[in-house]
Amino acid sequence: MTKRPRVFSGARPTGRQHLGNYLGAIKNYVALQADHDCVYCIVDLHAMTTLEDLHLLRAHTAEMALDWLAAGIRPADSIMFVQSHVPQHAELHTILSMFTPLGKLTDLPHFKDKVRLQPHNVNYGLVGYPVLMTADIVLYKTNLVPVGIDQESHIEFCREVVRTFNHRTGASVLVEPQMKNTEYPKVLGTDGQRKMSKSENNQIELALTAAETVNVVRSMVTDPARVRRTDPGNPDVCNVFALHKTFSTPAAVQEVGTGCRSAAIGCVECKLKLAENMNSGLAELRERRAAFAARPDDVWDILRDGAQRARALAAKTMDEVRAAIGLP
Ligand code: SF4
Repeated sequence: MTKRPRVFSGARPTGRQHLGNYLGAIKNYVALQADHDCVYCIVDLHAMTTLEDLHLLRAHTAEMALDWLAAGIRPADSIMFVQSHVPQHAELHTILSMFTPLGKLTDLPHFKDKVRLQPHNVNYGLVGYPVLMTADIVLYKTNLVPVGIDQESHIEFCREVVRTFNHRTGASVLVEPQMKNTEYPKVLGTDGQRKMSKSENNQIELALTAAETVNVVRSMVTDPARVRRTDPGNPDVCNVFALHKTFSTPAAVQEVGTGCRSAAIGCVECKLKLAENMNSGLAELRERRAAFAARPDDVWDILRDGAQRARALAAKTMDEVRAAIGLP
């Protein structure tokens, strides 16, 4: 049997996932399972670099795992686990930090952004973050990492560390991962301006009830130039229309577009149609989520089983890393 390429992706535990997470990443995770060997990690150690209230970590991890499973991550086929359950991540991070110039880390735009955002908490983890991320990826001899355009520099950094390690040890132990670009464009939030994100409070959570979805969609900002019901609108600048393209049939999208431009359809009607289609599109996912949520112990068992399988792979890589360095 041909060996399938290995995919690794990690995401910080941010609790209940929203449409931006789903359309931009999770849906792709699910699709990749068809022809890749997938390793999906909830990176709780990374979350510690910025999370103020550490008590939220466990609940956020559980909620995120629920959404991943509900979306269709299949634990029998893919490895799904929590980063801190596999100690080799921290171990390889320490080793790779000796192969990474400090100046390179402090020069990274990501580090500078974080310093600007949390000047009261410039912890070591913020500096070492790209090294830990490199360890996450290479521990599993990853071939492909799904990335958006804004993450390409992270993978380039990882590849550089791998090259340095392999060159200095003279052993090709670590694999340089390739980027697998995800095609879904940035998902905007309910404000229609900024990327959908919990921190912007503009999210539409996957786990909302049908009625909550209607309320949130009704609150969405539309074409600001359409003031009166009789004003023609421009669907191309409206995030409600953008989401119709995901959740409505091509015929319905066409109808909404034409109706908006000619003022034949009002924004309230347009939003209600979107909410209805969103609710049907997410119905199965929500049913699966409710079923998993009713068995929280099973979800932790899935994560523990994933960690066990991940540790087996990670231990093998670490044996090779130690031998390459010549650690006694
Ligand atoms: Fe947006 Fe729909 Fe209103 Fe047009 S009719 S501005 S697409 S909400």
